[in-house]
Amino acid sequence: MPVPFGSAGAVAQYTFDVVVVGGGVAGLCAAVTAREAGAGVVLLEKAPREQRGGNTRFADAQMRFPHEADEFGPRDYSADDMFNDLMRISRGRANEDLIRTLCDNARQTADWLTGLGLEWEQGYPHTAGYRRSPKSGGAGLVDLLHRRLEGLGGAVSYETAATELIVDETRRIRGVRAHSPEGVVDIFGTNGVILACGGFQANVEMRVRYLGRYADSLILRGSRYNTGDGLNMAMAAGAAPAGQWGDYHSAVLDARSPRIECGVTALYNYQMGIFVNHDGRRFLDEGEDFRDHTYVKFSKHIVEVAGGEAWCLFDQKAYQREEFARAWRPVGPPVLAETVEDLARRIEVPEANLVETLESFNAAVQPGVYDLDRLDGKRAAGITPPKSNWALPLDEPPYVAIPVTGGITFTFGGLKCDTSARVIDTRGQVMEGLYAAGEPMGEIFYYNYPGASSVIRGAVYGRIAASHAAAQAKA
Ligand SMILES: Cc1cc2nc3c(=O)[nH]c(=O)nc-3n(C[C@H](O)[C@H](O)[C@H](O)COP(=O)(O)OP(=O)(O)OC[C@H]3O[C@@H](n4cnc5c(N)ncnc54)[C@H](O)[C@@H]3O)c2cc1C
Repeated sequence: MPVPFGSAGAVAQYTFDVVVVGGGVAGLCAAVTAREAGAGVVLLEKAPREQRGGNTRFADAQMRFPHEADEFGPRDYSADDMFNDLMRISRGRANEDLIRTLCDNARQTADWLTGLGLEWEQGYPHTAGYRRSPKSGGAGLVDLLHRRLEGLGGAVSYETAATELIVDETRRIRGVRAHSPEGVVDIFGTNGVILACGGFQANVEMRVRYLGRYADSLILRGSRYNTGDGLNMAMAAGAAPAGQWGDYHSAVLDARSPRIECGVTALYNYQMGIFVNHDGRRFLDEGEDFRDHTYVKFSKHIVEVAGGEAWCLFDQKAYQREEFARAWRPVGPPVLAETVEDLARRIEVPEANLVETLESFNAAVQPGVYDLDRLDGKRAAGITPPKSNWALPLDEPPYVAIPVTGGITFTFGGLKCDTSARVIDTRGQVMEGLYAAGEPMGEIFYYNYPGASSVIRGAVYGRIAASHAAAQAKA
């Protein structure tokens, strides 16, 4: 239950202009932006200092944003291109206004990060060329933003979990009640509270409630602290849920990954090979689209349709490519075998099935130019499922097999927000004093996920929320 304003005060109280709940990219960008605008800020971080940074800390934190062709990619990428990609991948369901605002602000937000000292390098290869990657990864991004916040005199309170919103008699959000090292405290944000405290991916009860029975066993890729607190607090105070609560972001993971906070153990090179299930059969079109537009969907397919685990198979043509290693950080060694029969025995799939799968796949490969940087149309046709691009026969042993499964990164369901990141209640009205940024914002992702979009989403809307709140402070 939200704390009524009049009853706040029985515990220690602190007052700032802006209270930011959560210290990932969204919360940190919000706190820094509010401070740059002259507002007094506190950032509440549920984690201890050494585990700060939420999902952002575990990520490579690659970002897509509009840019001109440069040394990292041969093509221009416009705000319209980005808008079209994000809308297409959500099958038209994403909130057009929120997506337009995200795309229109992504470049200047990236430039702002560059101005703070963020250095970039090329993102993963073969992803259509729009990704840029912070050289220092997500952990470095978190440290950079903390240094900036500290330099500006912003306060950070670690091991402090917001538990409830404080609501006054006009329904304005006045602050949060939190569990902190000094006990229960009330922290007022005269001009606003920004919820930037992640989705519910680390809350197994909510996962099963919204995603289904199988979701209890998913490998958690990122922070253990994102347990849906912000979503629950806001909805208890009347916020409208929005977006696709029954879906989530995931990735095709090495099945030997640690069960929690495994970080980047995803296989980003499966388009160079094929997947087989435990029957030794293929079950999806590995070359359907660029990897950035399929990895979330495929990972869910492995979990929900292929029985939870599968194998990704390659031959030496793929394995020896320089970028193979760049797109897979091994959790363990691959299984190697000189013959398909031996491979089948080693990965414990029916020998005859695997032999038949490879023979029919290899025979179905069509001539054409193999080019991982474009949808090359070099396909395996006349088989089910086909492979629509990047099909080469697997015929150069030793064959390579890597066990794969799906994991969970963050959840898609969130809060209804306007383009200023203000939260909307179930009556359709703005909840004065309440903002959401990053993962708690709904209506951005549906079904699938356009790679490299979540960190930039957090950065953009963190800054938008903070600019709005800081302007209220001045007013
Ligand atoms: C392994 C991995 C790789 C990824 N790679 C990419 C990538 O390359 N590009 C990309 O765009 N996205 C990537 N993502 C997704 C992306 O990192 C996240 O979705 C994004 O960083 C989320 O930012 P955020 O600020 O919304 O949340 P987070 O970074 O998760 O921060 C949430 C914060 O809220 C805190 N918190 C939670 N509850 C409370 C509470 N009650 N009170 C106070 N604090 C609370 C948490 O401790 C944390 O500090 C990846 C994620 C993972 C795990």
